[in-house]
Amino acid sequence: MVMLGMPRTGLVDRFGRRAIDLRVSLTERCNLRCTYCMPAAGLPVSPSDAIMTAAEIARLVGLGATRLGVRKVRFTGGEPLLRADLVDVVARCAALPDRPELSLTTNAIGLASRAQALADAGLDRINVSLDTIDSETFTTVTRRPFLARVLEGIAAADAAGLRMKVNAVLLRGVNDTHAADLLAWCLERGYELRFIEQMPLDAGHTWDRTEMVTAAEVRTLIADHVVLTPHAAPRDGAPAERYDVAERTASGSTGRHLGTVGIIASVTESFCADCTRTRLTADGKVRSCLFSDEETDVLTAMRAGADDDEVVAIWQRAMWAKPRDHGVDRADFVQPARSMSAIGG
Ligand code: SAM
Ligand code: SF4
Repeated sequence: MVMLGMPRTGLVDRFGRRAIDLRVSLTERCNLRCTYCMPAAGLPVSPSDAIMTAAEIARLVGLGATRLGVRKVRFTGGEPLLRADLVDVVARCAALPDRPELSLTTNAIGLASRAQALADAGLDRINVSLDTIDSETFTTVTRRPFLARVLEGIAAADAAGLRMKVNAVLLRGVNDTHAADLLAWCLERGYELRFIEQMPLDAGHTWDRTEMVTAAEVRTLIADHVVLTPHAAPRDGAPAERYDVAERTASGSTGRHLGTVGIIASVTESFCADCTRTRLTADGKVRSCLFSDEETDVLTAMRAGADDDEVVAIWQRAMWAKPRDHGVDRADFVQPARSMSAIGG
């Protein structure tokens, strides 16, 4: 269905989707160099005065929540923990009227010393990216020998009472054979693990469809070790397909429930038709889709004195133009110019 006119309320697009989940990138910088995201030498970043301040972020989150129907906000990057004022950003957003749920996606380096402050500031949830619990493999994937620091960060977030999920990207011949160990590690601790298909968003543009570990392969890799049953609760537009995990022995399932696992098939089982996302890049651009190069500069307008009605209208127009789908499977697909760390994953 194509809609004919832009409604006055909310962040609606031409195909009738309504964005209620906001991703806010807090920085383009990172202290890891995950091979599927950043090049070994890093990437040029915007000058610091081009990056949104805590007050600008809070203003946009506030307008999103009170005027545009945003219900969930996830802070991401780059690595959000590299922002010295991260706790302040969270505290300002938590203090907003009609406050949305606040979560953080992070590699957890440096989280050990800030987890409690983030929880106290009002952070509700945290997603930690961890692709393996094998130290050598971690260093191969991230190009940095920091696994111990990530594990310390996870333990601190747990101790601070933050609700936690773990995100993992599998790479063929690198960490795919460790997937079952990572799952067992998460299940033992009560963390929901979500496997994410690798997307064509790496800075080196080396993504290769035939090399990607698909959601179907992930199911096979772990089904040798556990029994998966589709989770009963409705998916409700969520990107992850969730499964209940039961213990497996040589003779089959023992029926012992171990937890849940999610698989996000962004490429092979795309959920574009149900997409509820809107994004703000660290340099203050509205981005309606991860995969579209279309960006609308709202920060420059704000700094030039745009009032709330004008900012809301800019954001609505940007979302109205959201593409129908990411088109990764089409022959004419072109990878976006900005990579994941620069857009905000
Ligand atoms: N630095 C933080 C982290 O790693 O959690 C936040 C930003 S990172 C870009 C957000 C998420 O994007 C991470 O879970 C990461 O694994 C994922 N990601 C990065 N590049 C990806 C790619 N090419 N395909 C799929 N997921 C990717
Ligand atoms: Fe950094 Fe996150 Fe990208 Fe890894 S995935 S390089 S931690 S931004």
